[in-house]
This record gives sequence, structure tokens and C-alpha cells, in this order.
Amino acid sequence: MNTAKTYKPQTLHNYAEVKEKGIFVNQPSLPNLEDFNVLLKEIWKSKILTNNGKFHQQLELELAQYLGVEYISLFTNGTLALIAALQVLDIKGEVITTPYSFVATTHAIKWNGITPVFCDIDPITCNIDPKQIEKLLTENTSAILPVHVYGTPCDVEAIQDIGDVYGVKIIYDAAHAFGVKINNESILNFGDLSVLSFHATKVYNTFEGGAIICHDPKIKKRIDYLKNFGFAGETTVIAPGINAKMNELQAAVGILQLKDFEKNRLKRKTIAHFYREELKHVSGIEFLENQPSVVNNYGYFPIFVNSEKYGMTRDELYYKLKENKIFGRRYFYPLISHFPTYRNLESSNPEKLPWAEKASEEVICLPIYADLEERDVERIISGSCVW
Ligand SMILES: *Cc1c(COP(=O)(O)O)cnc(C)c1O
Repeated sequence: MNTAKTYKPQTLHNYAEVKEKGIFVNQPSLPNLEDFNVLLKEIWKSKILTNNGKFHQQLELELAQYLGVEYISLFTNGTLALIAALQVLDIKGEVITTPYSFVATTHAIKWNGITPVFCDIDPITCNIDPKQIEKLLTENTSAILPVHVYGTPCDVEAIQDIGDVYGVKIIYDAAHAFGVKINNESILNFGDLSVLSFHATKVYNTFEGGAIICHDPKIKKRIDYLKNFGFAGETTVIAPGINAKMNELQAAVGILQLKDFEKNRLKRKTIAHFYREELKHVSGIEFLENQPSVVNNYGYFPIFVNSEKYGMTRDELYYKLKENKIFGRRYFYPLISHFPTYRNLESSNPEKLPWAEKASEEVICLPIYADLEERDVERIISGSCVW
């Protein structure tokens, strides 16, 4: 007997009665299939599938221009780009980072045999708090790995000052920050390196993909060697490189996706505005501040639930929405410092990370994506206001 077919979990009982479709936190935008077919035909004709092919080169040029950065190297995903970024600058010892992020940020440090050191966040931005960084520096610190969480820029000036004074490198996990600008300058131009992710759930996707942004042609060269096994010529291997090259299929998708990015960004902007206008009247629901100097990409819409004022905890709201087939996500809960692999680190002590702990207990990211329909936004809003 096929148990999988006949077994009906109790918890699904409610869902069956809800007639509406599920709304997920994110839904990827996709290019026109006919347009993709044209590029596919070129790939089939040329038989060049990877190894810095035509589309790979074209996408690097177009992205550098679009984003307003000097050098970009494409990767097969963001995690490998992060791992390689630490290798490129020969980072060792300890790296100061944030526990309020996706787990790949810390994993990349760990995969390099480096000790992650968690620093608390600034409650206003949810990004690493520069004021807390200095006391975590030791003689073993060789880099800081901050994250522009939800695309909100870190305090790049203060972090750069620390980097300059103490001689430590700065690598930004900019996985959320595609297209983000501060005072009309790309956020990717700060720090020594920035790393993007083009995963399906991100605002700009190549199905899977990623990139490292740098500001020096020699570094760009080294990145390109490292992502191709360390080859610096037919017979020369300069370092223990990895295979992390973006292939031609991914690059072809990326070329088409770029054309729609701004249109989709503006659609998300409208949705974010709608959420703010409606939810600002709800006591106990708070959001991040809009910063006038920042061009945002509106990839996430986090709300913070103050349970005393709201009358319901974050988790109660989360499950309530779920019952109504609205699948928000608790980004970022649990904190990275809570996972078994990291919780025994000295810097994982919750008493030292009070703001990160608090945000992690209060946040829900509401669904936001370009094709989210207005009536669905209304459904989410009424689900967040009434119970
Ligand atoms: C998505 C994400 C990554 C990992 O990127 P992949 O392309 O999925 O490997 C790293 N850091 C953050 C903050 C992310 O959101």
C-alpha cells in the first residue's frame, strides 16, 4: 500500500478549507521564454557551454555598467563566491561578522578554516553595529564580513575607518543588495570586495549564480584564476582554486533578466509603499526606516512584531498567516549563533548579542515580489491586522 498517498496529516486539515492559493514570501521573475530560446539556439550552435564563454563575458560587461562598478567576476552561486572572496585576500585567523544573516555568510568563513566572531547589530538597520566591532578585534582578526541585510546599506564609512585604522580587510556579503545605491553611488563600491547572490529567491536571479565585485584589475585576475581551479594559463596553477564558474545557460538568463530589473524594482516599490501605508496604523507592527539617501531594491519587507502592543507574538502571527496560506518567513530566525555548529563559540553568547536576539524574535518578512497582485497584498494586510 502506498502510505504516502493515503496518509493525511492532521495539520493539513485547515489548509484544505482555505480556498485561496498559497502566497509565498517570494516568487522569482522569469524572462520571456521565446527570448531565452533565441539565446539557447546560439549556445547549441557554438557548443560553448562554459569556461568564460560569450554570454559570460557579455553579462560581466553589462552588469558592471548597470551596477556602476569597475570589475565583476561571475560565479555559479553566491556561497562559492563568498568562500573564494576570503581566499582571494588570503584571510586567516578570525573574521568579525553578524549572526543576523543567512547561514551561508558564516559557513563561508568556516569553510576557510577561519573562526567566525559574532558582533551585535544596530537595531535601527539590523546591520552589524560598527560601535561594537572594535572590542571584538584581536591580533588574529584579519577581516570584517558585514551583510547589507534586506538591502539596507551598512554604515560603510564607520566600517571603513575601522578597516583603515586596524589594517583589516572588509568583505561585504551583498547578497541582498543588487542595485542598491547610497548618495547615488553603488553600495558595491565600498569595502575591498562585495559578494552578490543571483539565487532564485533574490531580486535578480540567474536560477543560481553569484559574483564578486572588486576595484583592482589584478584582484579581478586572481578571482578569475581561483574560480577556475587556479589556472593562470594552460599549464600554470597559481593556487588551490575551485570550480565556481558561471555557465552559459546561467549567463544567458542573466542577460535577459537585467532588462526587466528596473521595471520589477518599481513594482516592488509600489507594494512596499502599500504595506507601509496600511500597516502603519496597526499598533505593535514596526518597520525599518526609509533612508532618503538610499535607492533600495525592495527585495524584502520585514515587519517587527511588538507582542505587547500587538496582542499576539511574532510566532502566533506567523502561524496565523500560515493557516491562511500566507507564507511569510522569519528571516533571520534562528540566529546563526544558535545553530549547533556555532553555538559553542564564545561570541555566540546571547547576552552579548541582545539586539540580534530581539530582532530574530520579532521579525517576519511578508511576501514581496514583482508579480504579487494587489488583491493578494490586501489579503496579506488584512491577515496581519485582523484575527
Ligand atoms: C542567498 C544568500 C547567500 C547565499 O547565496 P547563494 O547564491 O544561495 O549561494 C549568502 N548570504 C546571504 C545574506 C544570502 O541571503
